[in-house]
Amino acid sequence: MFSSLRPKRDVRTAIVTAVEQLTPRMTRVTASAESLVGVDIGPARDIELFLDDDGRRVKRRYTIRQSRPATGEIDVDVFLHGHGPGSRWADGARPGSAMEFVGPRGKLELRPADWHLFLGDEASLPAVTALVEALGPEVDTYAFIEVTDRFDQLPLSARTPRWLHRGSRPAGTPDLLERELDAFTPPEGLGRAYVLTESRVAARLRKLLPSYGVAADNVFAKGYWNSPS
Ligand SMILES: Cc1cc2nc3c(=O)[nH]c(=O)nc-3n(C[C@H](O)[C@H](O)[C@H](O)COP(=O)(O)OP(=O)(O)OC[C@H]3O[C@@H](n4cnc5c(N)ncnc54)[C@H](O)[C@@H]3O)c2cc1C
Repeated sequence: MFSSLRPKRDVRTAIVTAVEQLTPRMTRVTASAESLVGVDIGPARDIELFLDDDGRRVKRRYTIRQSRPATGEIDVDVFLHGHGPGSRWADGARPGSAMEFVGPRGKLELRPADWHLFLGDEASLPAVTALVEALGPEVDTYAFIEVTDRFDQLPLSARTPRWLHRGSRPAGTPDLLERELDAFTPPEGLGRAYVLTESRVAARLRKLLPSYGVAADNVFAKGYWNSPS
C-alpha cells in the first residue's frame, strides 16, 4: 500500500572488464563500477543482477567473490549449469558490455564460534570460499561441497575441505551432504553451520543439523537456487 513511498534501491551500472574460465563450468566475470570506488564490501555480499530473458526483465543474485575498492572492481563467479538467463549471461559476457544491478546486499554474518561448518554446492562455492578466507587459517573450518566431479573443484582454504562428487546423479538432492554429515564427528565447543544449497535441500539440512551438534539458533540456511522437481 505504501510501496510508492519506499525509497527505491539504487540501481548501479558496471562495465565488464574481463572474463575468465576458472573451470569448464565456472566463469569469472570482472566488472568495474564508478559507484563502487571506495566501497568496502564484506565477505559473501552479493549483487542482484537485472537480466533480459526474451524481453522479460528478471533478477539473479551472484556473490561478490572479490572486490577492489580502489578501482571499484568486483569479481563474480558464475556456475554454467546450462539453463536460464543467469547462466547464459555469464557464458556470453564479454569485456565492454554493461550490466545493471543493485547491491552489495546480503544478510549472512560470521559470528564467533569454536568451529564453523559450511554445506554447499557449485552456486555457493564463491560464497563459501570467501567466508572461509575471511575467517582465516587459525579458525577451525569444515566445508562439504557437492559438485559434479573434480573438474569443478577450486582452491578452498578450509581446514577440512570435502569434495562430494555427484557424477551423473541430478543436482539438488540432499543425499551426498547427508551422508557426509553422518560421517562427521562434531568437535568440542560452539559450532555454527551455514547451509547454502538448493532450497529444499537447505530446508532439510537445517532441520537435521541439531542432531549433528549444531544448535538450531546457530544454523544459517539459505536456498541459492530452486530445483524444478
Ligand atoms: C545470495 C545468493 C548468492 C548466489 N551466488 C551465486 C554465485 O556466486 N554463483 C552462482 O553461480 N550462483 C549463485 N547463486 C545462485 C544463482 O542465483 C541461481 O542459480 C540462479 O537461479 C541462476 O539463474 P539462471 O537464470 O542461470 O537459472 P534459473 O532460471 O534460475 O533456472 C533455470 C534452470 O536451471 C536450474 N538451476 C539453476 N541454478 C542451478 C544450479 N546452481 N545448479 C543446477 N541447476 C540449476 C534450475 O533448477 C532450473 O531448472 C546465488 C544465489 C543467492 C540466493
